[in-house]
This record gives sequence, structure tokens and C-alpha cells, in this order.
Amino acid sequence: RVPVVCIDGPTASGKGTLASQTAQRLGYLYLDSGALYRITALAAIRAGLALDQAHEHSIASMAERLPVAFEQGRVLLGGDDVTDAIRTEEAGMNASRVSALPAVRTALVALQQSFRRLPGLVADGRDMGTVIFPDAQLKVFLTASAARRAERRHKQLISKGFAPTIDTLRADLEARDARDSQRAVAPLKPAQDALLLDNSEQSVEDSVAQVLAWWEA
Ligand code: C5P
Repeated sequence: RVPVVCIDGPTASGKGTLASQTAQRLGYLYLDSGALYRITALAAIRAGLALDQAHEHSIASMAERLPVAFEQGRVLLGGDDVTDAIRTEEAGMNASRVSALPAVRTALVALQQSFRRLPGLVADGRDMGTVIFPDAQLKVFLTASAARRAERRHKQLISKGFAPTIDTLRADLEARDARDSQRAVAPLKPAQDALLLDNSEQSVEDSVAQVLAWWEA
């Protein structure tokens, strides 16, 4: 079996940073599954579709043949560079909407699983350990307090030139967590065999070291 490390958790918990640095340290591929939902939402909007149940099957069929490529840190949708467009708060909210549609989730399963290649994969998302890679050799569920996550998101956005208030960001991420946890399909929750990691008071280096220690154990 090709090795897989799953890192699941709520919005802005630091999954992306932890997963990509762990992948780098292990020399593994890295899958940012949230990006696939973000790209699907963007593709649907560009096609003029409302992100609701009435369009579930049209959006799912777009997701199934998503012309996406990850090249040197850039994200391409049909050759168009959408790296920045998918990173806005609005894009995250839209991703959360399409991700609640069961047919869309099903449409993205095979694409996500296709990233499981030698020498190994580190995958981050909400349901990597519960749905996409249930037989993963290591599953980590990463959390941090809402206050800490809002602060981190704020810092990130400031450095990119936007500046919503911390309170707005916190309300936004709590709304997204609520939607992600309460949906009928693949709700956000730790896999039964996941190890819990709370990084509220931990540096990225410490979190990476913890995951590597679990991996080697
Ligand atoms: O992780 P990220 O913030 O990029 O994910 C955007 C949205 O996509 C999440 O709020 C969640 O609703 C959805 N998502 C998901 N399953 C995943 C990854 C992301 O439902 N595996």
C-alpha cells in the first residue's frame, strides 16, 4: 500500500502549512483537497451556475472533468491561473457551499485518490481520513481555538493587502465550521483512529515534529 498521511481539521487550523511541510520533509506528494472544492465552485460560478441543490448535478459533472493542474505552486483551471482567485474568503465560502452537495463530493473522489502515488502522499482536508483514504497509515485531526484561527487568518490576509476585522473573520470561520460539521455527507469530524493535535499554543515546527514522530513510531 502506498503510504498516506491524512491531516484533517477545521478552517484556518493550519492544516495546509502543516501538511505541505510534512510532505516536504518526507519527500511525499501533497494534496490540498480544499483547493479542488474551491476550483469547482469557481468553475461553476464562471459557467453561470448558482451554487445550490438545483444545480447539484451540473456542478458535479463539471467537478468530474475538472481541467485542473498544479504546477510549481500555481493552480491552473483550463490553463487560466486561478491561484489567487481561489484564496479569497468568498471563494472559501463558495467552496463550502458546493462541498455540501453529495454528488459533487462523489465526483471528486477518484481525482483525490489519484494523488496516492509513490513514494507517498500527505493529504489535507475535512474527510481525508474518514472517506477518501480510510486505510491511511496515519490520520491526524488538527484543531486550534477559533480566536487563534481568526488571528492567524487575519495576519495572512493583511500580508496580502485585504483587512477584514478579526471579529468578521471569526464569525466567518465559525459559520463555515458549522456548515462543514452539520452537513449530511462527510461532516467534519475526526476519524475514529485519528490522533488529535491542538496547535493553539504550538509553532509550525513543533506540529511538524509531532506528526513526523507519530509517523516514525
Ligand atoms: O480547506 P479549505 O478552506 O480550502 O476548504 C474550503 C472548503 O471546502 C471547506 O470549508 C469545506 O467546506 C470544503 N472541503 C470539504 N472537504 C475537503 C476539503 C474542503 O468539504 N476534503
